Amino acid sequence: MDFEALWTFQTEDLKAEAIATEIKRSPIRLKLEKARDFIMDRQKQYKQIEDSVTAIADRKDFLFKALESTISEIEAQKERMASIDPEDEDAIAALREDVARARNEIRSFEKELTQMNADSGNFDKQLRSVRVEAARAKQNFDQLKADYETESKVKKEALERQRARVKSLESTVDPELMAEYLSIRKHTIPPVVRLQYGQCSGCNTSLPSATLSKIRSGALVECETCGRMIIQ
Ligand SMILES: [Zn+2]
Repeated sequence: MDFEALWTFQTEDLKAEAIATEIKRSPIRLKLEKARDFIMDRQKQYKQIEDSVTAIADRKDFLFKALESTISEIEAQKERMASIDPEDEDAIAALREDVARARNEIRSFEKELTQMNADSGNFDKQLRSVRVEAARAKQNFDQLKADYETESKVKKEALERQRARVKSLESTVDPELMAEYLSIRKHTIPPVVRLQYGQCSGCNTSLPSATLSKIRSGALVECETCGRMIIQ
């Protein structure tokens, strides 16, 4: 059998495979994927901060309403004060307690509002910085994308040329060998290896002398260990 034609075919086939792998593993492509993940991460972060800002706004609305109602409670307490009998000590004590409670409430609302104002300021700052980072990342992404497109255009053209060369060699290979080659190629690359020092050069297994003489006679032999076709 003409193993040399198959060997030449494989050489060209592996070149095409190498170009395809190079396209897939292009450093620019990997950077591009990282840049995309970074942007998505910042978008998620932005959304989370926005949610916190909304939650603060809701809580503020609630506190303002509570504050208003406590203030009107105090107004009502003042009116009650005017109408209480000055001799009725119990009523006066109860009213004082009500006033003190209302004032405490107001203080605690004010304290929370001050804290929330500080939080809002921090969130605004964070939103600005995330926006700036995302914009920079987008610029970086666009540049990488343009570079990748230029690079992959050149490589894809090279791949197409190489695949055409492989295709043109197909007819030079014995169909039986070709079928065998394609079947091995599905799980092992390269599918064909040379015999080297009595070993399969695919997996370095020493071969029994019966197998060696079969290979030397030009028969189709597959390595029992790695499944590759072994040729002289
Ligand atoms: Zn082997």
